[in-house]
Parts: sequence; structure tokens; C-alpha cells
Amino acid sequence: MLITMVWLAGRYEASQVQDKLDRDTAQAVVEVRSGLSRNLQDLQAINAPQTTPKQWSTRVAEVLQVRRELLRIEWRDPQMKILQTAYTPYRAAQWDEPQREESFSQAFTACSTAQRTNAPSYSTSYFQILGESMGAELMEVCLPQMDAGVLHGFMVGTYALQSILSTQVSKNLTRSQEVSFTEPDGTRLALVGAAWRGSRVFTSQQLLDLPGNTMVLRMDSWHRAPSVFPNVMTAMVTAMAIALGSVLVVLVRDNRRRLRAERDLGDALAFRKAMEDSLITGLRARDLQGRISYVNPAFCSMVGFSAEELLGQSFAPYWPPELAEEYVRRQAGRLSGAIPSPREGHESVFMRKDGTRFPVLIFEAPLINAQGQQTGWMSAFIDITEQRRMEDLSRASHERLQATARLATVGEMASLLSHELTQPLMAVSSYANGSLNMIAHDGDLSRLDAHALRSRLQDIQGAMKRIAFQADRAGKVIKSVRDFVRRRDQSHESITATELLEAVMPLVRMQAIKLGVRVHVDVEPRLPPIVCDSTMIEQVLLNLARNGMQAMEHMGASYKDLSIRAEWGSDPEHAGRVLFTVADQGCGIPKDVAEQLFTPFFTTKEEGMGLGLSMCRTVLEQHHGELHYSDNAPRGTVFTFSLPVVADPD
Ligand code: ADP
Repeated sequence: MLITMVWLAGRYEASQVQDKLDRDTAQAVVEVRSGLSRNLQDLQAINAPQTTPKQWSTRVAEVLQVRRELLRIEWRDPQMKILQTAYTPYRAAQWDEPQREESFSQAFTACSTAQRTNAPSYSTSYFQILGESMGAELMEVCLPQMDAGVLHGFMVGTYALQSILSTQVSKNLTRSQEVSFTEPDGTRLALVGAAWRGSRVFTSQQLLDLPGNTMVLRMDSWHRAPSVFPNVMTAMVTAMAIALGSVLVVLVRDNRRRLRAERDLGDALAFRKAMEDSLITGLRARDLQGRISYVNPAFCSMVGFSAEELLGQSFAPYWPPELAEEYVRRQAGRLSGAIPSPREGHESVFMRKDGTRFPVLIFEAPLINAQGQQTGWMSAFIDITEQRRMEDLSRASHERLQATARLATVGEMASLLSHELTQPLMAVSSYANGSLNMIAHDGDLSRLDAHALRSRLQDIQGAMKRIAFQADRAGKVIKSVRDFVRRRDQSHESITATELLEAVMPLVRMQAIKLGVRVHVDVEPRLPPIVCDSTMIEQVLLNLARNGMQAMEHMGASYKDLSIRAEWGSDPEHAGRVLFTVADQGCGIPKDVAEQLFTPFFTTKEEGMGLGLSMCRTVLEQHHGELHYSDNAPRGTVFTFSLPVVADPD
């Protein structure tokens, strides 16, 4: 539309110019016509009847003085003979007088028409040489002199066409425009005015029909080129169009950018939503007044309330009533600016919609907006019900394991104790009986002489000492068992390898004596303390030693050496740890036994429970270690495991 407007404005401008030119041309025609008819009147006035030649000359001179476009005026008789001639004072010219009287001359033609029509008549224009290299397009006008219907002669005026234009057409028309007479075919006859040339020409033509001659008055006007901005309005419209176009381009670009940004934002939002929905961590945001402003689906399913029920609430419905007061206090503290460390969560108890309580771990952090201002609080919740359950389970299983281990040991201990205590008790009883006999059988001690009495008393004293020794030994056995049982509750303490071995050695030795096995203990000097649950590790050592000794039970005396060692771990697996080795020279582990070695309740022994090795493995796994075994050279089995040392013994 704007382009059309510019085009129309240009066209309007052109039509305005054209209209003005047409008007100017019409005006020029009118001016030429009125000038010519004024001249006719002047000529007619000269031509009054009974004019003397002298009078004629005077009048003609006056007319020629005023009418510059007339070059000459002739007075002719009815036979077209020139009676008298007058010339314009403004222009010297050479005329071929005889030729002018010829019947083919233009004057002759004009006069014959004038005579015929009894009215002034013009000739067609013709070119006349008027002097050296001078010439002009001329036109004759002939007026018949009639008096009472009788022809008395003719007045013939000769016009220079160019002079007609320069004198009759107003100067303001010729100043910037070219005015010319042309023939109907376009041949230019006379030209006045010089317009500067431009690329765009406007032309207007009007017919000037005179009796006897018809010419075309043509006016040419050039316009500044190119008229892209014909006027201010067009210029403004164009400027607006350009501005609008630029705005449109900018808008389109901006819109594209916006669309792209919108799409990216949409993608990011969808991604965030998907992420939020797939989270198992509950998220909740609160504003600075403590009202809930956001909850994610995981939080809703955790507490069992819908988002609508929670949003906008400052008193959360998932607070257990008995704890609500404390939570309100905590929230008030939070709102007053007590910022918790976001890394260290705190535990709390929430209530589901159905009233059940469950433990949660809460991480809180301030919610900061894009301007860096705090707008509220963001909290992440982890339902730790399952974690708690697993912890309880693991604790229970650990306790069960300990109980099982204890059970296994207690049975054995009972038999060991009975075996071990039988000997001293038997000894005590036989010494006591012997002593009694010594007192009773010999009858009255008073009958003995002093020497015999002294010797008897010495015997009894010896027996008593032995009784005391055996009782003491029995007491030590019981004490070692009591010590062993008492330290069960301790866990993960720092203890040296020597202390560990010393704790189990009395029991090991007790069994070694029973089975006739020699036990060799070798502890590398300056070993750092170990971190472990000493009771359980003692149990492991005890089990391994007992298994080794039992494997050698039916061997010959030369194959009854049990070696227990503690040293620095040298291979990569045990580097930086203390390595324990229990090596026997027993029957070794056959392939079919090896497959089920760690299976609980697998045993090859009649009175075995099959729990020892499986328990050992579990205990060591709890200490981040592993129980390995390999063949011993030349025979038997080696069991190894390692334990971590205290990072800084000091
Ligand atoms: P238990 O000693 O009550 O049988 P364990 O789990 O301690 O239960 O041992 C399982 C089985 O592994 C034993 O019955 C025995 O056959 C085999 N075993 C364990 N230690 C050795 C060893 N040092 N030499 C040969 N066999 C062994």
C-alpha cells in the first residue's frame, strides 16, 4: 500500500505538472490568438477608405513600432501589385520584392482566400532568408479592403512566427518552458524559451487554427530527474515506509528470537518437570512467611496429601500433633534467619495423611531469586523408613551372628571346661583323699614319734600345695573363660596383635594339650595397633586354630605343629594391614569340601556345627577384609586374613 501511495503521489505530481502545462499552453494559445486579432484590428484601422499614401505610411510606422512581430506591411491593389511597403524598424532584411508578387507566393495565396471569403486570411508558414545566414519562418496575413462591396486592395502583413511567440506569449510562460509552433506532423517551425534539460519531459500541444492556416502550439517542460521524492508528503510517506519496513524486519527477527527462546524455555521446563516428577526426593519450598509455595509429586506421595491441600498452608498438615509445637518453633527460628548448613541434614518425624508416622531426613537451603534476594526456603526430604528398617535388620542379624558364634563356642567351651576342670578336680580330690588317708589310716597321729610326724605333716603339706595349685589352675581356666565372655560388648577398638593372641591363647592351648598339638605363636615386633571388634576377631582366631588342630587330630606326632603368625602385609592386597596366618599340617581340604567350605551348617565332623568358617567370613567382611585359604607345604592348610591398622597410633 505504501509503495502504491508513493507511486500514486508521483503520478499525482506528474498529472499536476501536466495539468499546469496544459493550462499554460491553452493560455499561450489564447494570448497568441488575441494578439493576432488585435493586430488585425490595427491593420484594419490603417486600411480605412480614402487613406492617402502619406497617412498610410505614418499609421503603418506607428503600428510597426508597436507590433514587433510584424516584419513588414504591404499595401496592394486588387491585382496584388504592391503599392506601398513599410518595414519594421527592428530588423534589417533583404526582401525579394518581385518574387512576392508572383502568383505562387504565400501572400498571393492568402489574399486570394481573403478575397474569396471577404475576410482576413493567413497563409501557411514558409522559410525566408532574411540576410546573410539569417532566415526565419514567416507567415502572411492578408486583409481585403472592401468598400460597399467593391474590392479596393489588400493589406498584407508579414509575421515572423518566432516574434509572435516572443511578444505575445507571457514571459512567465517562456521563462522555464519551451514554447514552439510546429506543423501537425511535428516539424518545429519556431521556438522560444529555453528550459533546462532534465530526464523527464512533459509536453502539451494545442491547435491554433487561423483562417487559412492551422498550426500546433507546443509547450515542453522538463522536470528535475528522477522525481523519486516529488514532494514532502511523498518523502514522508517514503520515510515512514522505510521506517515501517525496518521495524517489520526487526520485529520478525525479534519474533524469531523469541520463538527460539520460548522453545528452548519450553524444552528446559519440560526437562525440569520430567526430572522433578522422576525424583524420589521430596521437594518443598516455603516463602518468607512460612507458607508452602511449592511441592513436588514425590513429596505429595511421601506425605499422602495432594499439592492443593498443601499449597498456601503455613501450618503443615503432615506435622504430628505431638511434635507440632516444636516444629512451629523451628520454623520461626528459620524465618528469623537461622541458616542451617545445607550439607548436614537433620532428622525429623512426619505424619502421613492416614496418621502413620515416618522418619525423614531434611536438607534445607535458602531460596535465592535471580536478583540475589532470598524469597524463601527450599527443603529436600528423604524418607528414611526403609533405611531405618535396614539398619534395624542389620543390627538384629549382627546380634544374631554374635549370639550364634557365642552359642557355638559355649557348647564347645562347656565340654572343654568339663574336660579341663576334670583333671585338676580329680587331682584335688585324690590329693585330698590321700591326705585324709594319711591322717585316718595311721590311726592316732599322736602315737607317732616326732620324726615320723614331721615327715607325715610334710607329705600332707605337699598334697595341700598340690591341691592349692590344681585349684588355682582350675580357677585360671574359669577366669580365662570369664575374661573371654566379658569383653564381648566392646567393639571396634584399637588393640595390638599380641593382645589379641594373648586373649585366645589360653583356650587354644587348652585344646592343644587335649589333642596333643604343638602351638607356635610368632608376632612381628613393632606392629602398630589394629582397629577391630576384638571379641569377634578373637573368635575368628579361635575357630581357625581349633579347625587346624582338629584337622591334625589323627596325624602322627611329627605332623602336629600349628603355627599362628602376625606380620606386616607385603602383597598388594594386604599392603598397610596386619596379616594373620594360621597354618596346620593336617589332612588338607579336599575339592568336594572346598566347594561348600563357607556354607553354614556344612561340617564333616560328628560333633561339628558347620558355622565356624561362615561366621569367620562374615566377621572379616564386616572388617572390610577377606578370608583366604591355600594348601600348606608339605601338607595341611593355611588360612590368612588381614586387618586395618590405626591411622595414627599416637
Ligand atoms: P565345624 O568346624 O563346626 O565343622 P567349620 O565351618 O569351622 O565348622 O568347618 C567346616 C568344615 O571345613 C569342617 O568340617 C572341615 O571339614 C573343614 N575344615 C575347616 N578347617 C579345616 C582345616 N584347617 N583343615 C581341613 N579341613 C578343614
